[in-house]
Amino acid sequence: MDLLDTLTAKGLRREIPTREEALAVLATTDDELLDVVAAASRVRRQWFGRRVKLNYLVNLKSGLCPEDCNYCSQRLGSKAEILKYTWLKPEQAAEAAAAGLAGGAKRVCLVASGRGPTDRDIDRVADTIAAIKDANEAVEVCACLGLLSDNQAERLKAAGADAYNHNLNTSEATYGDITTTHTYADRVDTVTKAHGAGLSACSGLIAGMGESDEDLVDVVFALREIGSDSVPVNFLIPFEGTPLAKEWNLTPQRCLRILAMVRFVCPDVEVRIAGGREVHLRSMQPLGLHIANSIFLGDYLTSEGQAGQTDLDMIADAGFEVEGAGEPTLPRHRSEAGLGGGCGSGGGGCSDAASDVASEDAHACGTGGGCGPCGSHAEAASHENDELRSDLVRVRRRGAGTELAPNA
Ligand code: SF4
Repeated sequence: MDLLDTLTAKGLRREIPTREEALAVLATTDDELLDVVAAASRVRRQWFGRRVKLNYLVNLKSGLCPEDCNYCSQRLGSKAEILKYTWLKPEQAAEAAAAGLAGGAKRVCLVASGRGPTDRDIDRVADTIAAIKDANEAVEVCACLGLLSDNQAERLKAAGADAYNHNLNTSEATYGDITTTHTYADRVDTVTKAHGAGLSACSGLIAGMGESDEDLVDVVFALREIGSDSVPVNFLIPFEGTPLAKEWNLTPQRCLRILAMVRFVCPDVEVRIAGGREVHLRSMQPLGLHIANSIFLGDYLTSEGQAGQTDLDMIADAGFEVEGAGEPTLPRHRSEAGLGGGCGSGGGGCSDAASDVASEDAHACGTGGGCGPCGSHAEAASHENDELRSDLVRVRRRGAGTELAPNA
């Protein structure tokens, strides 16, 4: 297939595909799916070998958010019966993080719900980073605290944070349909602040909110342009009690096409299968590992993932290996370009517009938050599967904020 030969060749050269080529990946048929996976897998192996990076989420503060992100179980007015608690103490967070590290994770993602941190919150997170790094110097710490004010990124960097996550989530054109309490530009501003402070930018998307193929391609090109070093690809978890509860429009095949498109557009960037992996890829998860080089171990922010040991078994069974703490994740040309080196560093051309981004978990939230339909764009959505599978969504009842052991 000419398209896949072209995309593979470009990926191996770190050359950006055209928008038309990216859209064509999303339009491939089920008969072509394994060829799409094989092509994306060649690009993945070129830059990341057979390594899988494990990341571990610690939800420092759950629920009670004043923002109205439609996809999020922690949003204002959410009726989702999630755990709600305020800031974990540093030692509690360090204990939760230790479980993930013992399970093989090399990055801990410290997430807090809310519009953004106060300066006092930055102090709390600084104490938490110190507690985690005192016990394990090699761990990478990513903070995900929402919109940042001036100088907060610098303070996190000084406290030892390695990265900052803030997802763009969806296209600029669609953003107003999923959130009204902040803007796409706000998210880009926070990503820019993090990047400017020397933090590695982690910013991704949420698929399955009713967006069009064009929206998906737009947000992935924007993520490339802003210089995201890691791109979490979340698949909407349609939580009961949120506006997007009935937005079940993803199939495993569609998820694989989306991952492949992201890999072709961001060939040398950490592509992470994030929230919704088990819910939407289901038994096709191992095929996702041939495209993405990173996953979350164990549970998400407000929902439960499969058992951590099952993640490890899946990686081994599929012939991959867990990336060790001493191994760099990014290819040398990117890591030597400096944190947040941006896609431009790769050759294909990313502007360094840098601006950027935000998102992910929206404050974390992408990873588990779930969302609902995206307003006016719902008509354009590819509703490949109208069947509600709410039985697949399990609210987190263990780990941080509970008396039960975390899943790692
Ligand atoms: S994504 Fe973040 S800002 Fe939006 S509702 Fe959820 S916790 Fe609040």
